[in-house]
Amino acid sequence: MKLLRTYLTLVTLLLSFLGYSQSYNTFYGGIVNQYSPDTIHKNLVEFEGLGVKEHGTTPLTNTLNWLIDKYSNYGYTDIKIDTFNYNSQDDYNLIVTKIGTVYPNTYLIVDGHYDTKSGTGTNDNGSGVAVILEIARLLQNVNTEYSIKFINFSGEEDGLIGSTWYVNNTVIPNSMDIKLVFNIDEVGGVNGLVNNTIVCERDQSIPTLSNAASYAFTDTLATCVGLYSNLLTEISYAYSSDYMPFQANENIITGLFEKNQTSHAHSPTDFLINMDTNYVYEVTQASIGASLYFAVASQSSVGINDLNSSNIRDIKIYPNPVKDELTINLGVLTTEKTMLKLINIIGETVIEKQVTNSIEKISLNHLPAGIYTLVMSSPTMQFTEKIIH
Ligand SMILES: [Zn+2]
Repeated sequence: MKLLRTYLTLVTLLLSFLGYSQSYNTFYGGIVNQYSPDTIHKNLVEFEGLGVKEHGTTPLTNTLNWLIDKYSNYGYTDIKIDTFNYNSQDDYNLIVTKIGTVYPNTYLIVDGHYDTKSGTGTNDNGSGVAVILEIARLLQNVNTEYSIKFINFSGEEDGLIGSTWYVNNTVIPNSMDIKLVFNIDEVGGVNGLVNNTIVCERDQSIPTLSNAASYAFTDTLATCVGLYSNLLTEISYAYSSDYMPFQANENIITGLFEKNQTSHAHSPTDFLINMDTNYVYEVTQASIGASLYFAVASQSSVGINDLNSSNIRDIKIYPNPVKDELTINLGVLTTEKTMLKLINIIGETVIEKQVTNSIEKISLNHLPAGIYTLVMSSPTMQFTEKIIH
């Protein structure tokens, strides 16, 4: 539901504020390359064929059922309808959950609305729906350290009603631990124009608590776009889409939005023919790469947390908080095939090494102050602890 945007051209720093840059990951690239233009195109055609998806209409319900079929066919089992009511009629968000291997209770939310206004909404937001479905299809079999919720919101065009409901009735009451909200809305491009740039959107609004983190994640998103697609990026501000209720709740948000803005949004001519499907394919590749990065996809499956094991309870980590050097005493645990990782608050691995001594010391001198997660893993155990530096 975006009608107007004043673009801000911003100088982006060469390095993010944490000072770490990201490089192409061949494992992620291999998954990105499995994206299927045919599948995306078919989904766009089907979405268009479902009609005008306004509140209280049969096409909206049919689209909900179409989405459920898609996720089921991709192998998802945790598929929930989140029902809300306004103007005396029910409406439905769709929530699909994939559980993370290391942080099962911390979520990457990948979202976009599926309701439309005045037309079939093939760009606004069939394009985002098609991108999210393709991410979900390709990530279903991939282990990710963080859990992912793929959310198709409704009621967006009527005033972010579905996402507001979800934040107020699920996120806040459950104190849901959200790593990042990645919103994809209107990424179809304009037929006849050169669509080679995507807008990466960050939180520049009040409340400002999460603005800096949103800036950092949005820089990371732009980096992923560069690594995994042929698109150029522009940084601008987030507004008027389903990330805003999360923004108001001080969650960290980022988003994608088309650079060439369609003139067909919210009109009966918002059809595939007025879009640029190649642009949607590029946005899909960028979004798959970013989702793998944000959810921390791992090539090998990691061991299950076994916090009841007395051996794991023997691990001693000190001092914590730590200023310079952290000591990790593995106690009786073997160091064989044991890896140590330190992950910063935006999910970047800043230290990674093979453990060789049962008392391991790592220097944190070069790292900025903040909260980190220490992950110790071997084929038989997985141990995580928050470190304050
Ligand atoms: Zn939209």
